[in-house]
Amino acid sequence: MRLFEAIIDANHRAVAGDNSAGLHPAEFANELPVIALTCIDPRLNALFPNVLGIPAEDFIWLRNAGNIITGTLSSTMRSLALACAVKGGKEIAIIGHTDCHVCQTTTMALLDKLKAIGVDRSRLPENVNEFFGMFATERQNVIKACTFARSSPLIGPKIPVHGLVVDIATGKLEWVVNGYDAWPLPVAPEQNIFAKLTDAATKELGAGPMANFHFGEMKFPELKIGEAASKIGLAEPKPMAEKMVAMPPPPPLPAASVRSPKRPMPPPLRPRVVPPRERN
Ligand SMILES: [Zn+2]
Repeated sequence: MRLFEAIIDANHRAVAGDNSAGLHPAEFANELPVIALTCIDPRLNALFPNVLGIPAEDFIWLRNAGNIITGTLSSTMRSLALACAVKGGKEIAIIGHTDCHVCQTTTMALLDKLKAIGVDRSRLPENVNEFFGMFATERQNVIKACTFARSSPLIGPKIPVHGLVVDIATGKLEWVVNGYDAWPLPVAPEQNIFAKLTDAATKELGAGPMANFHFGEMKFPELKIGEAASKIGLAEPKPMAEKMVAMPPPPPLPAASVRSPKRPMPPPLRPRVVPPRERN
């Protein structure tokens, strides 16, 4: 069983009430630490890294509003690349969450909120939605982010890129994109896409998120998984393994807990460290 297979298995057992569910990090020494990109939502503070069942020291946590990746060379992509190269991250997980307020904010509402804090429409780019990477569903956003990360020349093919959505009320994980599946790489590993850029384009790329880097000839992998990715004009990632496709959706919350302002905490999914073997 590979790391995220074990994580999902332990998470689902813990959510179902199995108090003995947990991970033995020592068994996955070659697959840790994990790099996770999540939303900034403070409700996630209490969930991670417990819902993954991995120790804090093996958890590299990147956050931005909506766990959005805006491009294969974006600032977040650069941090992910450095987290792999400098901090030794072995696997990447892009983890969205249910009830994401970024997802629920319409363009008009966003403009109103920005105006309320002194940012006038005239100072913003024309396509505000695209600029901020706003999205319609959490799953769709995770699939899009995984597609960018997997297609990025900054992430080597040895690094699996997973996509998950965590239920913010129960802590249950849904595995949306299985990073262990092979993806056809749009850019051959030895190919340097920067060599194709003009000097001007390279400078523009470094200018920040406004830099419109045109991957005209870049093709995303064709896929069949998700219902949503076609709506956003991106090819979808490779389908999950069959057993994962068959994964049941998270159980609905009990009516009482939905009504209650108090959220039930997820079960304490804690890593269980295997005690060191006695020396002979
Ligand atoms: Zn969020």
